[in-house]
Amino acid sequence: MKWTGWNRLLKATLLTILIAALFSAAATASNNLTVHFLDVGQGDSELIQFNNKNVLIDGGEQDMGPRVESYLRNHGVSSLDIMVVTHPHSDHVGGLIAVLNDIPVKQVLDIGQAHPSPLYETFLTLINQKNIPYKNPQQGQTIDLDPNLKIEVLNPRATQFTDDLNQNSIVLKVVFNKVSFLLTGDAGFEAENSILAYGYDLKSDILKVGHHGSSSASSPTFLSKVRPAISVIEVGAGNDYGHPAQTTLDALQQIGSKICRTDLNGNIIITTDGVTYSVTTQRQSGNAANISTQPQNPVATSSLGPITFTSRASQQFVGSTKSNKYHYPSCRLAQKIKPANEIWFTSSEDARAQGYVPCEVCNPP
Ligand SMILES: [Zn+2]
Ligand SMILES: [Zn+2]
Repeated sequence: MKWTGWNRLLKATLLTILIAALFSAAATASNNLTVHFLDVGQGDSELIQFNNKNVLIDGGEQDMGPRVESYLRNHGVSSLDIMVVTHPHSDHVGGLIAVLNDIPVKQVLDIGQAHPSPLYETFLTLINQKNIPYKNPQQGQTIDLDPNLKIEVLNPRATQFTDDLNQNSIVLKVVFNKVSFLLTGDAGFEAENSILAYGYDLKSDILKVGHHGSSSASSPTFLSKVRPAISVIEVGAGNDYGHPAQTTLDALQQIGSKICRTDLNGNIIITTDGVTYSVTTQRQSGNAANISTQPQNPVATSSLGPITFTSRASQQFVGSTKSNKYHYPSCRLAQKIKPANEIWFTSSEDARAQGYVPCEVCNPP
Protein backbone atom coordinates (compact mmCIF):
# COMPACT_ATOMS: atom_id res chain seq x y z
CA MET A 1 0.00 0.00 0.00
CA LYS A 2 1.18 3.51 -0.78
CA TRP A 3 2.23 5.71 2.12
CA THR A 4 -0.38 8.42 1.74
CA GLY A 5 -1.25 11.29 4.05
CA TRP A 6 -4.46 9.53 5.02
CA ASN A 7 -2.60 6.38 5.89
CA ARG A 8 -0.18 8.38 8.01
CA LEU A 9 -3.07 10.16 9.74
CA LEU A 10 -4.78 6.83 10.43
CA LYS A 11 -1.61 5.39 11.96
CA ALA A 12 -1.09 8.48 14.10
CA THR A 13 -4.72 8.28 15.28
CA LEU A 14 -4.40 4.59 16.15
CA LEU A 15 -1.21 5.28 18.06
CA THR A 16 -2.90 8.13 19.97
CA ILE A 17 -5.80 5.83 20.89
CA LEU A 18 -3.32 3.18 22.01
CA ILE A 19 -1.38 5.64 24.16
CA ALA A 20 -4.61 7.00 25.67
CA ALA A 21 -5.70 3.43 26.43
CA LEU A 22 -2.36 2.69 28.09
CA PHE A 23 -2.61 5.81 30.26
CA SER A 24 -6.17 5.04 31.32
CA ALA A 25 -5.07 1.45 32.08
CA ALA A 26 -2.29 2.83 34.28
CA ALA A 27 -4.73 5.16 36.06
CA THR A 28 -7.02 2.26 36.99
CA ALA A 29 -4.21 -0.20 37.60
CA SER A 30 -4.99 -0.43 41.30
CA ASN A 31 -8.35 -2.04 40.44
CA ASN A 32 -6.67 -4.62 38.26
CA LEU A 33 -4.61 -7.68 38.92
CA THR A 34 -1.39 -7.77 36.91
CA VAL A 35 0.84 -10.81 36.70
CA HIS A 36 4.24 -10.30 35.07
CA PHE A 37 6.27 -13.24 33.81
CA LEU A 38 9.80 -11.88 33.68
CA ASP A 39 12.28 -12.99 31.06
CA VAL A 40 15.17 -14.20 33.23
CA GLY A 41 16.65 -16.62 30.69
CA GLN A 42 16.60 -20.22 31.94
CA GLY A 43 14.71 -19.70 35.20
CA ASP A 44 11.46 -18.45 36.69
CA SER A 45 10.36 -15.07 37.99
CA GLU A 46 6.83 -13.73 38.40
CA LEU A 47 5.57 -10.47 39.86
CA ILE A 48 1.98 -10.15 41.09
CA GLN A 49 0.58 -6.63 41.55
CA PHE A 50 -2.83 -6.00 43.10
CA ASN A 51 -4.28 -3.06 45.01
CA ASN A 52 -0.83 -1.52 45.68
CA LYS A 53 0.50 -4.84 46.94
CA ASN A 54 3.42 -6.67 45.39
CA VAL A 55 4.38 -10.33 45.46
CA LEU A 56 7.56 -11.64 43.83
CA ILE A 57 7.78 -15.35 43.07
CA ASP A 58 11.33 -16.55 42.26
CA GLY A 59 14.11 -14.46 40.72
CA GLY A 60 15.97 -16.55 38.14
CA GLU A 61 19.70 -17.33 38.48
CA GLN A 62 21.91 -15.10 40.62
CA ASP A 63 23.17 -13.05 37.65
CA MET A 64 19.54 -12.13 36.86
CA GLY A 65 19.20 -10.33 40.22
CA PRO A 66 19.96 -6.84 38.87
CA ARG A 67 17.56 -7.38 35.96
CA VAL A 68 14.74 -8.43 38.31
CA GLU A 69 15.50 -5.56 40.65
CA SER A 70 15.37 -2.92 37.92
CA TYR A 71 12.18 -4.48 36.55
CA LEU A 72 10.60 -4.12 39.99
CA ARG A 73 11.70 -0.49 40.31
CA ASN A 74 10.45 0.29 36.78
CA HIS A 75 7.06 -1.06 37.84
CA GLY A 76 6.82 1.08 40.94
CA VAL A 77 7.79 -1.62 43.44
CA SER A 78 9.58 -0.08 46.43
CA SER A 79 8.81 -2.94 48.83
CA LEU A 80 7.51 -6.50 48.58
CA ASP A 81 4.59 -7.70 50.68
CA ILE A 82 5.57 -11.31 50.03
CA MET A 83 8.60 -12.95 48.44
CA VAL A 84 8.04 -16.58 47.45
CA VAL A 85 10.84 -18.97 46.57
CA THR A 86 9.07 -21.96 45.02
CA HIS A 87 12.05 -24.23 45.82
CA PRO A 88 15.76 -23.70 46.46
CA HIS A 89 17.17 -24.50 42.99
CA SER A 90 19.53 -21.78 41.73
CA ASP A 91 17.35 -20.81 38.73
CA HIS A 92 14.61 -19.79 41.19
CA VAL A 93 16.37 -18.53 44.31
CA GLY A 94 19.52 -16.97 42.76
CA GLY A 95 18.17 -13.60 41.64
CA LEU A 96 16.23 -13.13 44.88
CA ILE A 97 19.47 -12.43 46.76
CA ALA A 98 20.03 -9.04 45.07
CA VAL A 99 16.36 -8.16 45.65
CA LEU A 100 16.56 -9.13 49.34
CA ASN A 101 19.68 -6.99 49.71
CA ASP A 102 18.13 -3.86 48.22
CA ILE A 103 14.33 -3.90 48.57
CA PRO A 104 12.40 -4.21 51.87
CA VAL A 105 10.51 -7.53 52.09
CA LYS A 106 7.71 -8.03 54.63
CA GLN A 107 7.51 -11.82 54.49
CA VAL A 108 9.27 -14.75 52.81
CA LEU A 109 7.55 -18.02 51.90
CA ASP A 110 9.76 -21.05 51.27
CA ILE A 111 9.31 -24.83 51.38
CA GLY A 112 11.83 -25.10 54.22
CA GLN A 113 13.46 -28.26 52.89
CA ALA A 114 17.18 -28.55 53.63
CA HIS A 115 19.32 -27.92 50.56
CA PRO A 116 23.04 -27.56 51.08
CA SER A 117 24.05 -24.97 48.49
CA PRO A 118 26.05 -21.79 49.24
CA LEU A 119 23.50 -19.75 47.30
CA TYR A 120 20.53 -20.98 49.32
CA GLU A 121 22.49 -20.58 52.56
CA THR A 122 23.24 -16.94 51.64
CA PHE A 123 19.51 -16.46 51.00
CA LEU A 124 18.54 -17.90 54.40
CA THR A 125 21.26 -15.93 56.19
CA LEU A 126 19.99 -12.66 54.66
CA ILE A 127 16.42 -13.39 55.81
CA ASN A 128 17.75 -14.08 59.27
CA GLN A 129 19.94 -10.96 59.39
CA LYS A 130 17.08 -8.75 58.25
CA ASN A 131 14.65 -10.40 60.66
CA ILE A 132 12.11 -11.02 57.92
CA PRO A 133 9.14 -13.20 58.95
CA TYR A 134 9.64 -16.60 57.27
CA LYS A 135 6.95 -19.23 56.73
CA ASN A 136 6.55 -22.63 55.08
CA PRO A 137 3.13 -22.81 53.42
CA GLN A 138 1.43 -26.16 52.79
CA GLN A 139 -1.23 -27.76 50.65
CA GLY A 140 -4.70 -26.75 51.87
CA GLN A 141 -3.68 -23.31 53.17
CA THR A 142 -4.48 -19.89 51.75
CA ILE A 143 -2.39 -16.72 51.68
CA ASP A 144 -4.01 -13.48 52.86
CA LEU A 145 -2.79 -10.65 50.68
CA ASP A 146 -6.03 -8.78 49.97
CA PRO A 147 -9.68 -9.59 50.72
CA ASN A 148 -10.49 -9.44 46.98
CA LEU A 149 -7.78 -11.87 45.94
CA LYS A 150 -7.88 -15.59 46.70
CA ILE A 151 -4.48 -17.28 46.84
CA GLU A 152 -4.56 -21.03 47.49
CA VAL A 153 -1.52 -23.16 48.28
CA LEU A 154 -1.82 -26.38 46.26
CA ASN A 155 1.66 -27.76 47.00
CA PRO A 156 3.85 -28.91 48.82
CA ARG A 157 2.12 -31.58 50.90
CA ALA A 158 2.52 -31.63 54.68
CA THR A 159 4.69 -34.73 54.14
CA GLN A 160 7.10 -33.54 51.47
CA PHE A 161 8.61 -35.69 48.75
CA THR A 162 12.11 -36.48 49.94
CA ASP A 163 14.29 -36.91 46.89
CA ASP A 164 13.19 -34.26 44.42
CA LEU A 165 12.97 -30.58 45.36
CA ASN A 166 10.99 -29.83 42.20
CA GLN A 167 8.07 -31.94 43.46
CA ASN A 168 7.92 -29.84 46.62
CA SER A 169 7.64 -26.57 44.67
CA ILE A 170 5.20 -24.08 46.11
CA VAL A 171 2.23 -24.13 43.71
CA LEU A 172 -0.26 -21.26 43.97
CA LYS A 173 -3.66 -20.67 42.44
CA VAL A 174 -4.46 -16.96 42.30
CA VAL A 175 -8.11 -16.09 41.66
CA PHE A 176 -9.46 -12.58 41.06
CA ASN A 177 -13.23 -12.83 40.60
CA LYS A 178 -13.63 -14.91 37.41
CA VAL A 179 -10.01 -14.98 36.26
CA SER A 180 -7.49 -17.45 37.63
CA PHE A 181 -3.77 -18.13 37.39
CA LEU A 182 -2.01 -21.38 38.27
CA LEU A 183 1.65 -20.87 39.13
CA THR A 184 3.52 -24.14 39.42
CA GLY A 185 7.26 -23.57 39.94
CA ASP A 186 9.09 -26.73 38.85
CA ALA A 187 6.28 -29.12 39.93
CA GLY A 188 6.25 -32.33 37.87
CA PHE A 189 4.10 -35.46 37.66
CA GLU A 190 4.37 -36.44 41.37
CA ALA A 191 3.33 -33.00 42.55
CA GLU A 192 0.56 -32.84 39.93
CA ASN A 193 -0.81 -36.21 41.12
CA SER A 194 -0.75 -35.03 44.72
CA ILE A 195 -2.62 -31.85 43.72
CA LEU A 196 -5.15 -33.87 41.70
CA ALA A 197 -5.69 -36.27 44.63
CA TYR A 198 -6.40 -33.35 46.97
CA GLY A 199 -9.42 -32.50 44.80
CA TYR A 200 -8.75 -28.87 43.96
CA ASP A 201 -10.70 -27.03 41.30
CA LEU A 202 -7.76 -26.70 38.92
CA LYS A 203 -9.53 -24.93 36.04
CA SER A 204 -7.44 -21.84 35.33
CA ASP A 205 -7.37 -19.25 32.58
CA ILE A 206 -3.61 -18.89 32.70
CA LEU A 207 -1.08 -21.63 33.51
CA LYS A 208 2.59 -21.01 34.27
CA VAL A 209 3.67 -24.35 32.79
CA GLY A 210 5.55 -26.55 35.27
CA HIS A 211 9.34 -27.00 35.18
CA HIS A 212 10.07 -24.81 32.12
CA GLY A 213 7.94 -27.05 29.87
CA SER A 214 9.95 -30.18 30.71
CA SER A 215 8.63 -33.59 29.60
CA SER A 216 8.44 -34.60 33.29
CA ALA A 217 5.64 -32.12 33.97
CA SER A 218 2.20 -31.24 32.52
CA SER A 219 0.61 -34.71 32.43
CA PRO A 220 -2.44 -35.10 30.16
CA THR A 221 -4.71 -35.63 33.20
CA PHE A 222 -3.40 -32.49 34.89
CA LEU A 223 -3.79 -30.40 31.73
CA SER A 224 -7.30 -31.76 31.15
CA LYS A 225 -8.29 -30.36 34.57
CA VAL A 226 -6.50 -27.02 34.22
CA ARG A 227 -7.60 -26.39 30.61
CA PRO A 228 -5.70 -23.09 30.39
CA ALA A 229 -6.61 -20.63 27.63
CA ILE A 230 -3.07 -19.22 27.94
CA SER A 231 0.06 -21.18 28.83
CA VAL A 232 3.21 -19.32 29.79
CA ILE A 233 6.55 -21.12 29.57
CA GLU A 234 9.50 -19.49 31.34
CA VAL A 235 12.54 -20.79 29.55
CA GLY A 236 15.93 -19.66 28.23
CA ALA A 237 16.83 -19.79 24.54
CA GLY A 238 19.16 -22.68 23.69
CA ASN A 239 19.17 -24.07 27.25
CA ASP A 240 21.07 -27.27 28.09
CA TYR A 241 17.95 -29.19 29.13
CA GLY A 242 16.03 -29.14 25.85
CA HIS A 243 13.21 -27.19 27.54
CA PRO A 244 10.48 -26.90 26.51
CA ALA A 245 9.82 -30.49 25.41
CA GLN A 246 8.00 -30.95 22.11
CA THR A 247 5.60 -33.37 23.85
CA THR A 248 4.58 -30.59 26.25
CA LEU A 249 4.12 -28.06 23.44
CA ASP A 250 2.01 -30.62 21.54
CA ALA A 251 -0.09 -31.41 24.62
CA LEU A 252 -0.78 -27.71 25.21
CA GLN A 253 -1.70 -27.18 21.60
CA GLN A 254 -3.99 -30.21 21.69
CA ILE A 255 -6.08 -28.64 24.47
CA GLY A 256 -6.27 -25.42 22.44
CA SER A 257 -4.05 -23.33 24.73
CA LYS A 258 -2.22 -20.30 23.38
CA ILE A 259 1.47 -20.53 24.26
CA CYS A 260 3.63 -17.58 25.31
CA ARG A 261 7.34 -18.17 25.98
CA THR A 262 9.85 -15.87 27.62
CA ASP A 263 12.61 -17.07 25.25
CA LEU A 264 10.54 -15.98 22.24
CA ASN A 265 8.30 -13.24 23.63
CA GLY A 266 10.45 -11.65 26.35
CA ASN A 267 8.52 -10.34 29.36
CA ILE A 268 4.86 -11.38 29.36
CA ILE A 269 2.31 -9.24 31.19
CA ILE A 270 -1.27 -10.30 31.85
CA THR A 271 -3.70 -7.76 33.28
CA THR A 272 -7.25 -8.49 34.38
CA ASP A 273 -10.21 -6.61 35.85
CA GLY A 274 -11.54 -9.95 37.13
CA VAL A 275 -13.72 -10.60 34.08
CA THR A 276 -11.59 -10.02 31.00
CA TYR A 277 -7.84 -10.17 30.69
CA SER A 278 -5.28 -8.91 28.23
CA VAL A 279 -1.91 -10.38 27.38
CA THR A 280 0.97 -8.14 26.32
CA THR A 281 4.36 -9.43 25.36
CA GLN A 282 7.62 -7.56 24.94
CA ARG A 283 8.29 -9.16 21.56
CA GLN A 284 6.26 -10.94 18.94
CA SER A 285 7.80 -14.36 18.49
CA GLY A 286 8.99 -15.70 15.17
CA ASN A 287 7.27 -19.05 15.34
CA ALA A 288 4.59 -18.93 18.01
CA ALA A 289 2.00 -18.45 15.31
CA ASN A 290 -0.83 -19.52 17.56
CA ILE A 291 -0.70 -16.35 19.63
CA SER A 292 -0.99 -13.89 16.78
CA THR A 293 -4.42 -15.14 15.73
CA GLN A 294 -6.21 -11.93 16.65
CA PRO A 295 -6.17 -10.08 13.31
CA GLN A 296 -9.20 -8.00 14.31
CA ASN A 297 -7.11 -6.34 17.00
CA PRO A 298 -5.17 -3.38 15.56
CA VAL A 299 -2.58 -3.66 18.33
CA ALA A 300 -1.63 -7.18 17.26
CA THR A 301 0.47 -5.97 14.37
CA SER A 302 4.17 -6.48 14.00
CA SER A 303 4.77 -2.76 13.42
CA LEU A 304 4.08 -2.08 17.09
CA GLY A 305 6.24 -4.96 18.29
CA PRO A 306 4.39 -6.57 21.15
CA ILE A 307 1.39 -8.83 20.93
CA THR A 308 -1.73 -7.75 22.74
CA PHE A 309 -5.02 -9.53 22.90
CA THR A 310 -7.94 -9.76 25.28
CA SER A 311 -10.14 -12.68 26.22
CA ARG A 312 -13.06 -13.42 28.51
CA ALA A 313 -12.76 -15.37 31.73
CA SER A 314 -13.05 -19.11 31.68
CA GLN A 315 -16.22 -21.09 31.67
CA GLN A 316 -17.79 -21.72 35.03
CA PHE A 317 -19.64 -25.04 34.93
CA VAL A 318 -19.10 -28.41 33.35
CA GLY A 319 -21.43 -31.22 32.28
CA SER A 320 -21.19 -34.47 30.37
CA THR A 321 -22.63 -35.08 26.94
CA LYS A 322 -23.81 -38.40 28.46
CA SER A 323 -26.06 -36.83 31.14
CA ASN A 324 -28.15 -33.71 31.79
CA LYS A 325 -26.44 -32.51 35.00
CA TYR A 326 -24.09 -29.54 35.29
CA HIS A 327 -21.49 -29.21 38.05
CA TYR A 328 -18.86 -26.99 39.57
CA PRO A 329 -15.58 -28.20 38.01
CA SER A 330 -14.44 -29.17 41.53
CA CYS A 331 -17.42 -31.54 42.10
CA ARG A 332 -16.36 -35.16 42.60
CA LEU A 333 -18.85 -36.22 39.92
CA ALA A 334 -17.44 -33.61 37.50
CA GLN A 335 -13.98 -35.07 38.03
CA LYS A 336 -15.27 -38.42 36.70
CA ILE A 337 -16.40 -36.99 33.34
CA LYS A 338 -14.14 -38.16 30.54
CA PRO A 339 -12.45 -35.16 28.83
CA ALA A 340 -13.94 -36.25 25.50
CA ASN A 341 -17.46 -35.98 26.96
CA GLU A 342 -17.04 -32.66 28.74
CA ILE A 343 -19.28 -29.74 27.83
CA TRP A 344 -18.54 -26.35 29.39
CA PHE A 345 -20.96 -23.53 30.24
CA THR A 346 -20.26 -19.85 30.86
CA SER A 347 -23.07 -19.54 33.43
CA SER A 348 -25.92 -21.50 35.02
CA GLU A 349 -28.27 -19.72 32.57
CA ASP A 350 -26.14 -21.03 29.74
CA ALA A 351 -26.32 -24.59 31.15
CA ARG A 352 -30.08 -24.44 31.74
CA ALA A 353 -30.68 -23.00 28.27
CA GLN A 354 -28.99 -26.11 26.89
CA GLY A 355 -31.31 -28.40 28.87
CA TYR A 356 -28.99 -29.14 31.78
CA VAL A 357 -30.11 -29.23 35.46
CA PRO A 358 -27.99 -28.59 38.60
CA CYS A 359 -26.12 -31.53 40.14
CA GLU A 360 -27.57 -32.52 43.58
CA VAL A 361 -24.08 -33.13 44.99
CA CYS A 362 -22.33 -29.80 44.33
CA ASN A 363 -25.53 -27.73 44.02
CA PRO A 364 -24.53 -25.07 41.49
CA PRO A 365 -26.85 -22.03 41.14
ZN1 LIG B 1 13.70 -24.43 37.45
ZN1 LIG C 1 13.99 -26.91 40.09
